Amino acid sequence: MQTPKKIAIVGSGLVGSLLAIYLRKAGHTVHIYDRSPDIRQIQFSGRSINLAMSNRGWKALDAVGVGDDVRTIAIPMDKRAIHLVDKLNFQNYGQEGESIYSISRGSLNRKMIDLAENAGAEFFFEHKIWDVTLDDATLHIGETERGAWEDKKYDMVFGADGAFSRIRHRMQRQNMFNYSQEFLNMGYKELNIPANADASHKLDKNSFHIWPRGEYMLIALPNLDGSFTCTLFMPFEGENSFAFLTDRKLVEEFFEKNLPDTIDVIPKLAEDFFKNPTSTLVTMKCFPWTYHDKVALIGDACHAIVPFYGQGMNAGFEDISVLYEMIEKYGDDWKTIFSEYEKSRKPNADAIAELSYRNFMEMSSKTADEKFLLQKKIEKSFSDKYPEKWIPLYSRVTFSDRPYAEALAIGDYQNAIMEEVVRMENIESIWDSKEVENKILSLLE
Ligand SMILES: Cc1cc2nc3c(=O)[nH]c(=O)nc-3n(C[C@H](O)[C@H](O)[C@H](O)COP(=O)(O)OP(=O)(O)OC[C@H]3O[C@@H](n4cnc5c(N)ncnc54)[C@H](O)[C@@H]3O)c2cc1C
Repeated sequence: MQTPKKIAIVGSGLVGSLLAIYLRKAGHTVHIYDRSPDIRQIQFSGRSINLAMSNRGWKALDAVGVGDDVRTIAIPMDKRAIHLVDKLNFQNYGQEGESIYSISRGSLNRKMIDLAENAGAEFFFEHKIWDVTLDDATLHIGETERGAWEDKKYDMVFGADGAFSRIRHRMQRQNMFNYSQEFLNMGYKELNIPANADASHKLDKNSFHIWPRGEYMLIALPNLDGSFTCTLFMPFEGENSFAFLTDRKLVEEFFEKNLPDTIDVIPKLAEDFFKNPTSTLVTMKCFPWTYHDKVALIGDACHAIVPFYGQGMNAGFEDISVLYEMIEKYGDDWKTIFSEYEKSRKPNADAIAELSYRNFMEMSSKTADEKFLLQKKIEKSFSDKYPEKWIPLYSRVTFSDRPYAEALAIGDYQNAIMEEVVRMENIESIWDSKEVENKILSLLE
């Protein structure tokens, strides 16, 4: 279909390794460089950072026939389990049979590298890329930034080297290259809920667990070995903050008071709290994403987002689906492939960045708010009855492959309608009535 090219991918993360499978499918020679050692050779630490995979991710995996391999390491989560201080609520994510999937990042990355290698891609681990010459797609590789570098020339280079990409770094020095980076004043720390002695899960296995507490929250996703990986999102400074939790006693008292049902299930709370790092969260935007027909950015390298919609990797995988659509459409015309790819993806990357930023509020505050839960119930009941008239925002983002920018625009429109509906008199008792249904229908007209 295309004239075979010699292509380098910088970064063997989730996006780089899936891109390699696609480029092999299109008939190219593919070399992947990563500064880290081969994660398949590293002794597994036992800790498992996990990710939620949804429709866009599965679509990109299935289109190259590797979805079923990944399904073997995925756990479906069809609902949120919302742990309030005094009770537990459940909220379904979508329609019957719709789930997001918890997958260990390490297991997924190892599998993706195996699959890319089987597809014929060649990996070069412990190869640090310090720079790229954009005009002739030459990588500069070496041990240290100031030491001797080896040059490797390719027909084309993809920068899949994550939020702090060196490839983007070089592109940033071009005229008319726009770039912004914004850190949240909130960080995250991982904690662990171990399995029961019989390897069963201590909490409901098929739920995404949330402890919404306003300015901070705890979440937990299931692992195959019966454990859960928890992530505590919290401001760096202030009353309820990492800065405040400075010793064992303060951490234990804080959890006992605010997250009481976690005490029995997180046995090594203080130990893990002080052992595990506190990490930062960044939104990074830039444009353009490509340089002539020589260099292109993909995944977090061109759109790092905060993780509150669980879409970062899914969006990176969707970049690949769109790039491949352009490959099928424009054949050997890489200049057009690149420009159509970035034109199509940029508004959608900006939209998911915005949605992800906003979703912190939904997860950490609104899931504990009765009015919001009522709004969700009304939306669900209306969309069950009129699925062609109302797809909730979460479903548009998570269970469809319509553009993120469309989801953002329609979501805002639906929210304005819902704000009016929940202002109706006695809404708590009439939420499931014909009157409310007719009101929504009239507002939709
Ligand atoms: C706490 C948290 C939770 C998240 N949860 C979800 C979720 O539930 N669902 C979801 O879809 N997304 C989630 N994400 C986002 C997701 O992790 C990222 O979007 C995804 O990992 C991006 O993949 P990538 O391959 O583009 O970049 P990365 O995973 O960052 O990979 C980049 C690779 O490039 C290599 N590299 C970097 N620089 C160089 C260099 N100079 N030379 C050679 N190699 C280099 C690195 O070693 C690395 O292997 C989450 C992120 C965070 C932080």
